Amino acid sequence: MKTVSLSLNEIYSLSEKTLLANGCDKETASIMAELIKNAERDGSLSHGLFRLPAYVSGLKSKKINGKGRPVIKKISPSVIKVEGNNCLAPVVLNKSLPELTKAAKYNGVAVLAINNSHHMAALWPETEKLAEDGLVAFACTSYKPAVAPAGATKPLFGTNPISFAWPRLGKTPVVYDMATASMAMGEVQVAKREGHKVPIGTGLTKEGKETTDPSEIVDGGVLLPFGGYKGSAIAMMVELMAGALVGDNFSFETAAKDKNDGGPPSGGEFILAISPEKTSGTDWQKHSDEFFDKMKSFDGVRLPGDRRHKNRLDKGLRNINEELINKIKTLS
Ligand code: NDP
Repeated sequence: MKTVSLSLNEIYSLSEKTLLANGCDKETASIMAELIKNAERDGSLSHGLFRLPAYVSGLKSKKINGKGRPVIKKISPSVIKVEGNNCLAPVVLNKSLPELTKAAKYNGVAVLAINNSHHMAALWPETEKLAEDGLVAFACTSYKPAVAPAGATKPLFGTNPISFAWPRLGKTPVVYDMATASMAMGEVQVAKREGHKVPIGTGLTKEGKETTDPSEIVDGGVLLPFGGYKGSAIAMMVELMAGALVGDNFSFETAAKDKNDGGPPSGGEFILAISPEKTSGTDWQKHSDEFFDKMKSFDGVRLPGDRRHKNRLDKGLRNINEELINKIKTLS
């Protein structure tokens, strides 16, 4: 793969320029450019520049509003509802996370129920931000069907990511952020292109048979949840929490309403924030740090989020796929 070396500032500028040229106002473009730059900085590669052409497709088709603003409504002291007004999710989060933080710090716990926003990013930016503000955080969102429930051979669930973050004052939070599918469809496509097999349990053929051949999954087959029926239950939970619980669509309803023009569809997101000061008292930091130290004392163990946080320390150039950069340049 041929690559081009870009600084983090160049990644920001290229993203901002492309978004401004495709119907975003300055505020939306700068929030999105910052998100894309941070994804490249952390090595969260499937959610950096790689997503920019899809954001542009959604902006061009007008399903995404590049100039909109969300409307935030307090339903009760600890329930905040956000009408996303078809903004990109990072714009919605930029406005609503501070309100969630305030409510969770005051009440001990608070939830954010987001509707009609377009989420195609990683979830760690929202949970990590809450944890940096001293809160324990959980977030999930659904998408369009790509994953079969355990026992089935047709897709019903999205790849339905979940993220959890734990605050550590004076240190980077511990954060995990993962799809509930066994493997991202993009990775299965790469395995097909490169002629690799995938493990049993990754997906099924169009006839519903188990396979290690990625082309049988990509060409009309289906992904499976991670961990069999246990992952399937978590993917089901995401459908309920980011769908019925927040008053938005299930993945199959999202697909029926989406224009299928390549951009992220409109959907919901559920975010929970808890103040450990309120639920635990003063000892929680020391207690949890002892637990993390114990975990790390086991050979071969690392904490989730450590890889990204280590990448973040490198302020140097990032090598980006040349084909992708050329494609992005044609968009502005
Ligand atoms: P990975 O399987 O790459 O990683 C999942 C988590 O496990 C990360 O927090 C990672 O931390 C951690 N991890 C990986 N290896 C280890 C290890 N050896 N020990 C301890 N922890 C480890 O992620 P996925 O492919 O499942 O998901 C990638 C991204 O895709 C996520 O950010 C997700 O939010 C996003 N996504 C978004 C969707 C959307 O609709 N918005 C849909 C589906 C996915 P680390 O980062 O430090 O490696």
